[in-house]
Formats: sequence, structure tokens, C-alpha cells
Amino acid sequence: MKLLRAMREPLKYVQGKGALLKFEEEMGYMGKRWLFVCSNSGYKACHDQIEKSFSDADSYRRYEVFGGISSKGEIAKMQKIVEEDNIDAVVAVGGGSAVDTAKATAYYTGRHVVIIPTVAATDAPCTGLSVIYNDDGSFDKYLFYPTNPDAVMVDSQVIADAPVKFLVAGMGDALGTYFEGRASIRTESPSLEGTGITRAGMALAKLCYQTLRDYGSQAIAACENHVVTPALDAIIEANVYLSGVGADNVNCAAAHSFYNGLTALGGHSAPHGCCVAFGTLVQLTLEGATKEEFYDVQGFCREVGLPTTLAELGVMTDEQIRVIAENACVEGETIHNLAGDVTPDELYAAIVATNALGWKGEK
Ligand SMILES: [Zn+2]
Repeated sequence: MKLLRAMREPLKYVQGKGALLKFEEEMGYMGKRWLFVCSNSGYKACHDQIEKSFSDADSYRRYEVFGGISSKGEIAKMQKIVEEDNIDAVVAVGGGSAVDTAKATAYYTGRHVVIIPTVAATDAPCTGLSVIYNDDGSFDKYLFYPTNPDAVMVDSQVIADAPVKFLVAGMGDALGTYFEGRASIRTESPSLEGTGITRAGMALAKLCYQTLRDYGSQAIAACENHVVTPALDAIIEANVYLSGVGADNVNCAAAHSFYNGLTALGGHSAPHGCCVAFGTLVQLTLEGATKEEFYDVQGFCREVGLPTTLAELGVMTDEQIRVIAENACVEGETIHNLAGDVTPDELYAAIVATNALGWKGEK
């Protein structure tokens, strides 16, 4: 039987300057007892506004600041608090670690979950999966959930106040969405959630790319000056919603496999989204994109400060490129969603050629 097509997204998405002041008004239907799982900076950026949103005295709010990762131990600790304090809803306040810990905690305890991202750097807030680590920091597994988070709330001022590098990285992660989706639907590959790809998912991916092109550089200028403009709001929506929901409902392809291959080098520090941006250029090379399309996307990367050479990702040697190519092509990698099969040799060639075009300058 053919795969059933399906569409998934958060039940509610709220975004804007000062959104947190409406936290209770928007989310209060979930209950009276709240556990906020906060990163250190997330707590500082959001605590006061969230508190201001609560008018009634009879609700219970507990804030847990944690500096860790979404490890089994952290999740077990939060689960215990949910049960002991009889929590109705778990709220993530922070970046990827807080988001993944809160999602897993809510899932294991059957509670509502709200995501408040404090950076717009990845697809994590809107997707229906988490990355789980062992307590020693090593990768454990992807945990797939039956649904996406109940709600996502983004305060645009919080994103404007965060370092601009996160916004740029988020644009890199978002850049892959359309091209990876386009490759996946060509081969009728399943979505990230394992269902058939919908036209709706593809439309979001396309709008994501268009929004990046239309507003990317203006949004960066706003974020550098910590002000919220319509352009910044457009890019926040692209990075958090369009890219997250888009990727969930289409799939990844070579761009994300390039990132996964790069993590095999160990000790690298380039942000996820910056690797995905370069990986998108590599994918275009693999697909035999015309020079118009390749230079068009490469030019956009330059415009917003995303990498176009390997050196910008800290990759310096031929040996490293071989390791990336081998690891990006292992079984189960999304690079195999591309039409035809990609071998490590072919990927190696595409990485080398893409890097050379990065050094050549604009054509
Ligand atoms: Zn990503």
C-alpha cells in the first residue's frame, strides 16, 4: 500500500513582540499548574514577562533552571517533579536542550507541552521529535512523538535581544528545507515523520525559502540593533514555524546528511544551521543544478553571512572531507532520498567542487 499522506503541526502558534505578556491568556486553557524547564539565559530573558501574564493568584508555577542537555537523567528528574507537583503543563524556555527535555517530559507523563524558544536557531520548537542523549553526553536516539507540541509561543523581542549569530544559523537550517523537500518529493520519499508528503508541507517549505530571500538581510540589521521590524518577524516565522513544520512534513536530504557526516569529525564547533547551509550548496552540486540556481543560492549565503567554503566550518584537510563523505552516506541517511544513489565518492566530489566555487567569488 502507498504511504498515507499526512500533515502535522503544533495546535497553536503565537508570535510577536511582547507575546509573553499574553502567556496565561493564550495558554491558560491547559491548566493551573505549570513547570517551566528553563535554560539559564532563557530564565533571565523570559521569567519576568511570563510572571506578569498571570493575573490569578491560584495558579502554581515552578521554574527549574538546568544547564544540562536533554539526557535521560534530566528527563527523569523533570518527570518526578511533574508527578510530585501534579503539573498540568510543561513549558520549555530556551534553546534545543530545554525544548527536547520539556517535550520528552510531557510525553512520558501525558501532560500538555508549550515551547518558548529564546533563539531562532533550529527547527526544534515546532517538530514532533527530540534528540535524546545519554548521561555522559553521547547521542542516544531520536525520540519520535505521535503529535507535535500543543503550542509554540515566540516573543520577537526575546529573539531580537539574542545574539544575531543564532538568527543567521536558523536561516541556514531553514535554507535546506525547500531544497531537501523538493528532492524528497521527487522520489516520493516519506516525510520526516514517516508519512507521505503533502502539497501543504511543500507549500510551507517553498514559502520558507521565499521569505528568507525577501527579508533575510533586513532581519539581520534589525536583530543586530535589537529592534523588532516586520522583516525580523517574517524571518522568525520562517526559521521557527515554516522551516520546522516544513521539514517535519517534507523531509531532509543531502544538506542534513552533510551535517551528520561532519559531526563524525568530532570536536567541530560550527553551528548546525551553518553546516546545513553549506550542505544545501553541496546538494545543489550533486543534483547538477544550473549555474544560475547555484550562484543564486550561494549569493544569498554570502548576503546573510552563511558559509560558502569549508574553511568557515573548520574543515581543513582532504582526509576530513573523506570522513564526512563516508559518514554522510551510511545506511538510513536522508541523502538517499535524492534521485539515484549517492556514493561517498560522488559526495566527496561535490563537496570539493562546492568548496572551490566558494573560493571563486561571485560569478
Ligand atoms: Zn536542521
